[in-house]
Amino acid sequence: MADVRNLILVLGDQLTPSLSSLAGADPTRDLVLMAELHDEATSVRHHRKKIAFIFSAMRHFAEELRAGGWTVDYVTLGSAENQAGFTGQLAHAIGKHQPERIVVTEASEWRVSLEIEGWRERLSIPVDILRDHRFLCSTDAFRAWAEGRKQLRMEYFYRDMRRQTGLLMDGDQPVGGKWNFDSENRKAADIDLFTPSPKAFAPDTITREIIELVKARFGNHFGDLDPFWFAVTRVDAEAALAAFIEQALPQFGDYQDAMLMGEPFLYHAVISQYLNCGLLDPMSVCRQVEAAYRAGKAPLNAAEGFIRQIIGWREYVRGIYWLNMPGYEQSNFFGHTRPLPEFYWTGETDMACIKAAVTQTREQAYAHHIQRLMVTGNFAMLAGIDPFALHEWYLSVYADAFEWVELPNTVGMSQFADGGLLASKPYAASGAYINRMSNYCSSCRFDVKQRTGPQACPFNALYWDFIGRNRDKIRGNARMVQMVRTYDKFAPAEQQRIGRSAANILASL
Ligand SMILES: Cc1cc2nc3c(=O)[nH]c(=O)nc-3n(C[C@H](O)[C@H](O)[C@H](O)COP(=O)(O)OP(=O)(O)OC[C@H]3O[C@@H](n4cnc5c(N)ncnc54)[C@H](O)[C@@H]3O)c2cc1C
Ligand code: SF4
Repeated sequence: MADVRNLILVLGDQLTPSLSSLAGADPTRDLVLMAELHDEATSVRHHRKKIAFIFSAMRHFAEELRAGGWTVDYVTLGSAENQAGFTGQLAHAIGKHQPERIVVTEASEWRVSLEIEGWRERLSIPVDILRDHRFLCSTDAFRAWAEGRKQLRMEYFYRDMRRQTGLLMDGDQPVGGKWNFDSENRKAADIDLFTPSPKAFAPDTITREIIELVKARFGNHFGDLDPFWFAVTRVDAEAALAAFIEQALPQFGDYQDAMLMGEPFLYHAVISQYLNCGLLDPMSVCRQVEAAYRAGKAPLNAAEGFIRQIIGWREYVRGIYWLNMPGYEQSNFFGHTRPLPEFYWTGETDMACIKAAVTQTREQAYAHHIQRLMVTGNFAMLAGIDPFALHEWYLSVYADAFEWVELPNTVGMSQFADGGLLASKPYAASGAYINRMSNYCSSCRFDVKQRTGPQACPFNALYWDFIGRNRDKIRGNARMVQMVRTYDKFAPAEQQRIGRSAANILASL
């Protein structure tokens, strides 16, 4: 291209043709820059499957843009032109292409956003930072919603989003007469030979090349590269969504909280990695799910529960993130400081539930919500693990992990480290919850029915020890006060046994 007008930088989670930076641009005068950056792949030690997924999806997106008439300067990881970080790469591209200005859609994460803010001054070139319209609630709109509210609760935000989008609405009333059908969504699952699997895609030449590159360059990162079956194009991501809607959505609601040994996906969609890097559009996903309900192909508790996760939770956690950054990542309401146990990386523990969650995380870069919240997250909170260390773990190990969505889920929802800004109560539970919602306990060396002693399920003593040691911090919470009262009614000897058992478990970490 002779004279470049705008240099458009497209980030690895902006793989959407209707992106604001591309929408108003002119392929004959503007040039797209994309780069596989070492600094991004190592900002934490990301799962190797996640790096391969994002780099491969980026290369395929560059192909899609080229097919649409765009000129793309795509800098591969191994290229001699690769500068490792955003600012260096951009400076290099400015020298090479001499554009009049830089155009970029706002970054989803605080760290990258801060770097972008500095470009006007550092690079002495005009920089246009455009809004990201792929989210349904802008950060300003969320700020306005939060303004003046004593408590921020997802449920009320969600109702406003239903009204705003018109999803599952009959006029101004929710379809079915209720906003939320969660009470129907807590069934335990049984082994079923016909449980569907997410649609898998064989790696093509580009993906195979990337897998070799990741093998060579990120050998010391966590996680298996094989089997690699993620979609890396928009067309395949849409096919994965269609397969979910047809095969798993009808049961999504009923078994949303269930866990089964050897069934990492159950009836979940396994699409968060596609949504978060831009291969799927959230509103289009929700419309397709609503259409399935209206066509009688999925029950209301499934469709409502699913749509709530996307226009409710997903948008809500993003709002919380931008309302509270920077500083939110340092939240530590309980003052927890214990290092992350090694078994979060190795899976080598006798606790069957944690072993299953970590093993499938290593293999698939995926665990479903209840495994993240009530197994690995719950254990960390009960054991007093440093929330920042846990945040870095979640950010590293999942293919869908970007800080804007991972941090509020970890620090706010799973650790209550923000003191209740995001969640209405700590998601703390003893082994009884895991036993009710899974079949893990039947193959565990520990006894879920025992509270203390060497055979007792570690979640039990740790749970009551957590309630006891934090009683002053949580007794004011109406949803926790009963647990504090129960602890207070234990005989002093039982409280001592709980304390001793918990201390032994913690010492063994
Ligand atoms: C400690 C912890 C860390 C998490 N980290 C991430 C993360 O890094 N990235 C991420 O996308 N999700 C994260 N979540 C939320 C949730 O666990 C995942 O979105 C979900 O497991 C993805 O799998 P799925 O696509 O099969 O989801 P499904 O269960 O099928 O749900 C459908 C979609 O709803 C959305 N969704 C559901 N729950 C949430 C939620 N709590 N917050 C935001 N979106 C939600 C996702 O886009 C998901 O694809 C985290 C949850 C916890 C408790
Ligand atoms: S007994 Fe306890 S540690 Fe073992 S699987 Fe059940 S909840 Fe997990």
